[in-house]
Amino acid sequence: MKAIRMVEPGKPLALQHVPIPPAGEEDVLVRVRAAGICHSDAHYRAGRSGMGMMPITLGHEVSGEVEWVGAKVISVKAGARVCLHYNISCEDCYYCRTGNEQFCTTVKMIGHHIDGGYAEYIAMPARNAILLPEEISFAEGATLMCASATALHALRRGRVKEGETVAVFGVGGLGLSAVQLARALGAVEVYAVDIKQDKLELASEYGAIPIDASRSDATEEIQKLTGGKGVDVALEMIGLPVTMKQTIESLGVLGRAVIVGLSQIPLEINPYQTLIGYEAEVIGSNDHLLQELPVLIDMARRKVLDTSHVVSQTISLDADQINQRLDDLELYTSDVRAVIVQPD
Ligand SMILES: [Zn+2]
Ligand SMILES: [Zn+2]
Repeated sequence: MKAIRMVEPGKPLALQHVPIPPAGEEDVLVRVRAAGICHSDAHYRAGRSGMGMMPITLGHEVSGEVEWVGAKVISVKAGARVCLHYNISCEDCYYCRTGNEQFCTTVKMIGHHIDGGYAEYIAMPARNAILLPEEISFAEGATLMCASATALHALRRGRVKEGETVAVFGVGGLGLSAVQLARALGAVEVYAVDIKQDKLELASEYGAIPIDASRSDATEEIQKLTGGKGVDVALEMIGLPVTMKQTIESLGVLGRAVIVGLSQIPLEINPYQTLIGYEAEVIGSNDHLLQELPVLIDMARRKVLDTSHVVSQTISLDADQINQRLDDLELYTSDVRAVIVQPD
């Protein structure tokens, strides 16, 4: 089969012909119909993250049709439309057994530790395959597996309750999902902070109050709009120390800041002013859980979460096109998200 693979860190991905992956008795073999191109893939290609093997097929946002099921599989049948939870956990370690499989000590992420979905086929444990209803396209289903799922997990980490106010810093793919999901979870006001006009407009279409951080100080604006109270939950989706600081400073009493954007740069805050005095919390949020995905897919099916704007471009399983999109992501020039789509 065709697979677009990372053969060397820092080099463009290349087309390779590889065998269709073997699937065991508890696995499904899935014919890939869509694979999202994610910012993480640009980091992987650049060699900024250790990979589990080399060469490796990238792609962790995957949906498709079940081609074959193993003898012990009862949850899905051949022909089913599915999307795939990208973390394969052991189900046996301390973290798996306590319901926190994202910390599985031997977790394997497709497209990072083992071969992923920039290919014609992928084999996965059947428990990682979640049924994808007809109402959701393969392309949208694929993107639900990463950004939207991570947004839902972050809101759950922030314990968003009905009647609360939420600020979302950065309304790209992650942030746009977060805006909609926050409202679905009962937030009465959601502030969307970004410096890009088109993103702010989209966020307003989903009911957010836009704050253009290129024109005013986002923290001051949020304090003003909330009558000096600040927000209950603020999410940081960008990964910059300056926006992390703003996220924390936009909180009110008992507020929760959830940090999702990746950064390794130390963060400086005034503990009394921002945390102690408000009994505020700063919470890390990483990935999401398998158990959150059926809920998320159902929200998308009911259009509580509209993902029709998420997919900005579809491309084919072609190394040049994929490398081009990864180049765009490196330069931050990309609009929301490109997805590799393979025809029926
Ligand atoms: Zn992703
Ligand atoms: Zn485990």
